[in-house]
Amino acid sequence: DDEATIIDGKKIAADIRLEIKAEVDELKTKYGGKVPGLAVVIVGERKDSQTYVRMKRKACDEVGIHSFHSELPETISEEELIDVVKKYNENPDCHGILVQLPLPKHIDEEKVLGVISLEKDVDGFHPLNIGMLAMKGHEPLFMPCTPKGSIVLLERSGVELKGKNAVVVGRSNIVGMPASMMLNKKDCTVTVVHSRTKNPKEICRQADILIAAAGSAKMIKGDWIKKGAAVIDVGTNSVEDKSKKSGYALVGDVDFDEAKKRASFITPVPGGVGPMTIAMLLQNCLDGGKRAIEGTK
Ligand code: NDP
Repeated sequence: DDEATIIDGKKIAADIRLEIKAEVDELKTKYGGKVPGLAVVIVGERKDSQTYVRMKRKACDEVGIHSFHSELPETISEEELIDVVKKYNENPDCHGILVQLPLPKHIDEEKVLGVISLEKDVDGFHPLNIGMLAMKGHEPLFMPCTPKGSIVLLERSGVELKGKNAVVVGRSNIVGMPASMMLNKKDCTVTVVHSRTKNPKEICRQADILIAAAGSAKMIKGDWIKKGAAVIDVGTNSVEDKSKKSGYALVGDVDFDEAKKRASFITPVPGGVGPMTIAMLLQNCLDGGKRAIEGTK
């Protein structure tokens, strides 16, 4: 009776995808068949990367976003990869460029990401987009998809952010750090917890909003949660589970069963933040495509 509302990320992501499809259709009608275009670049044969790329392309198809595909060999040189990115920079039908990470060891990821044109940086990882996210009075052209998805889940659940104490567990470039800056932009008072933080439990207990992105299975226990907090669990950890056919199960960074007795809102794993990542990628592609096709900035 007193349990948290479970935030249905699958449902919210599906709603967003329908909204995006409607906007793509509208753009297409208005501008003689023009649609947003996304280039997906993958290097090497990693099975997990191939799965992610397949999911992203399928999601594009479903909403009517055109996808370009470059499947490059593991042995490609940094220079050749940069040339591929530059070609997409110049292609007027391509409005977003996604280089699937990780790249092979002989290639400098930051160098490659830094070549992506700012207007096409749909992953939001370009240092200038991150810089604008950090700066007062500036807005980035794109924000990283997973942390953005976390914020959208809060907003669509009706959670007030302004003036609230927010704690982010984790400070990675792709999740924790951008999440903390986005909450700051939303007028939260933000504290970041990382692996060297002295009293993480005491800090988390102050959080009205808690975003967990540490990659450590169930590290956040029920008594780390403030009564009534909104909890977004980004963690996706695979743990052994003999009851499952596959032999493993996915769990978050939060002990869900304990935390839901104290939180007011909580995301499950899977089915919380996960589905939002691709929805936000589609949103970024739409935004980039719209700016280019409508000729606005
Ligand atoms: P990283 O490993 O890059 O970063 C983890 C961060 O958490 C680091 O800042 C680290 O601190 C901190 N940390 C690790 N352990 C602890 C601990 N015990 N206490 C406090 N802080 C800790 O991971 P990512 O940011 O890439 O991913 C985080 C989680 O989110 C993972 O489970 C990942 O699978 C998941 N994820 C899910 C996505 C999705 O749903 N679509 C997308 C991306 C990620 P320090 O900086 O000091 O090392």
